[in-house]
Amino acid sequence: MRFFSTSNKERTLIRSSFKEVIMEGQAPDGGLYMPEYIPSFSEEELSSLSKCSLSECAYALLSKYVEGEIPDTELKSLLNDAYTFEVPIQPVYGEHSIMRLDEGPTASFKDIAAQAMARMVGYFLKQDKKESVILVATSGDTGSAVAHAYHKIPGVTVVILFPEGEVSERQRKQMTTLKDNVHAIAVKGKFDDCQRMVKKAFADTKLAEYPLTSANSINLGRLLPQASYYLYAYAQINKPLVYAIPSGNFGNMMGGMIASRMGVPVVKFVIGVNDNDSFPLFLKTDTFSPITPSRNSISNAMNVGHPSNLARIVSLFGGTLDGAGNMEVQPNMNEMRSELVSVSVNDAETKAVMKKVYDEYGVILEPHGAVGWSALHEKHPELTAYPSIVIETAHPAKFNTTVKEVLNVEPPLPESISVPLSKEEEYTTISSEYDEFVSTLLKII
Ligand SMILES: *Cc1c(COP(=O)(O)O)cnc(C)c1O
Repeated sequence: MRFFSTSNKERTLIRSSFKEVIMEGQAPDGGLYMPEYIPSFSEEELSSLSKCSLSECAYALLSKYVEGEIPDTELKSLLNDAYTFEVPIQPVYGEHSIMRLDEGPTASFKDIAAQAMARMVGYFLKQDKKESVILVATSGDTGSAVAHAYHKIPGVTVVILFPEGEVSERQRKQMTTLKDNVHAIAVKGKFDDCQRMVKKAFADTKLAEYPLTSANSINLGRLLPQASYYLYAYAQINKPLVYAIPSGNFGNMMGGMIASRMGVPVVKFVIGVNDNDSFPLFLKTDTFSPITPSRNSISNAMNVGHPSNLARIVSLFGGTLDGAGNMEVQPNMNEMRSELVSVSVNDAETKAVMKKVYDEYGVILEPHGAVGWSALHEKHPELTAYPSIVIETAHPAKFNTTVKEVLNVEPPLPESISVPLSKEEEYTTISSEYDEFVSTLLKII
């Protein structure tokens, strides 16, 4: 398996190993890595996977890209270790379900990617006897998922910067109670300050001697594991499904597209977005215009005006987004429209559907899952003629303020949130001055 960069319209194959791609993250020209072809499952393979667990599905899928660079037994065992939690498919009515990706260590679907990626990176670091300092700026959820995934991985030190006043107590405690190789820094400032300091550190020649790495969400090693739960859903239900996916940076939906190209039968993808509607407008008008600055909404993990995986979607349909983000080669829009629909769901509609689903079926959706539900069940009812799954990307207890306001119920606390709440915290607080950040960082690493 070789890999090209989405920014290169010739699709020149610039990497020939999975290891290079996962350890490097982003291609040198600023594009995203894509595999030269999408491998597929034979009919026998697919039927042999019936009722497989998430880790078995992930192994069947990832081994086609890893191709022995991590020995099969090792890959199997690290995926078993990554996925120790359930992925419940909860029936709601008829043949319509939600798939809960919220049972991982930080109650967010980002755990699924981060858990597998961290262990694969850990394997390659050990093989090369190297060390790595993972530096992340977070507005909440990504930081905790990354921190939990790399917690106690040998050779790795994690440093997370979060804006002191912008994360909830629940989010903060998921980052500050891990300790060991995970160091949390509260910044008296905004998320943008955290991100600015992290970016500056990567470019700082004074820090060049340290193995600083990002836990970039656009890494192919984070994307591919997200194809596994589409395979998993098919393996449980054994019918082609409609998948409704609440989306921001489009990593989740790209996982679905890859699973589909690998042979997992899919009726249609329904991509739900909040007020950041650049993608549905793209499907309608054939022209992509990013939204800057992004619009705020209650499904705040999807407040993205310029989805980072757009380059991959375009690439999958034969187009090229150049390094500056311009459409150099237009993708086949008709083919795209035949595989997916996309619709924007505003905050009022999100709240209305949370209430409706709770009143009618007793199911608590948090705002992200509710965007997915509305996109299919309210906005594309014609697709409810097929069996379907709405992907629930976070536990309602992570968004308990909105849930309480809309439903007047307190969602039950999963252990992933309640256990950190009772643990002792450890973190350093700094100003948003870069020099103070550097001296704190140097004390840690
Ligand atoms: C990150 C996130 C999303 C968006 O996923 P993308 O892959 O960026 O589209 C949706 N819901 C929740 C809860 C998230 O944390």
